[in-house]
Amino acid sequence: MKTLSELYNEVIANEELKKAFAEAAKADQLVEFAKEHGCETTLEDMKAFRDGDKPLSLDELDSAAGGGSCKEYWVECGNCGKKNKYKEGEPRPKNCQYCSWIFNQ
Ligand SMILES: [Zn+2]
Repeated sequence: MKTLSELYNEVIANEELKKAFAEAAKADQLVEFAKEHGCETTLEDMKAFRDGDKPLSLDELDSAAGGGSCKEYWVECGNCGKKNKYKEGEPRPKNCQYCSWIFNQ
């Protein structure tokens, strides 16, 4: 079995795998995608891995807002088309939480 980090390095080094990853993100099949490529994982683990060295995840932004004084916007993922929420004053995400794992480092 591969670790997430091994899978990640494999995907970012391979255009075909990047495309397959995007397709999997679109179809909510990322856990299956990882499994097919030899890595048993969960979406939670993927998120934790992606967020490892970032200051704030989108979910953290959600909980940090504390009562809707902030405007929220929806922006479509530039890769798979999933909707992303972001708040006024925060960097606007180009990709959804899963595509950003690969495309928006
Ligand atoms: Zn996406």
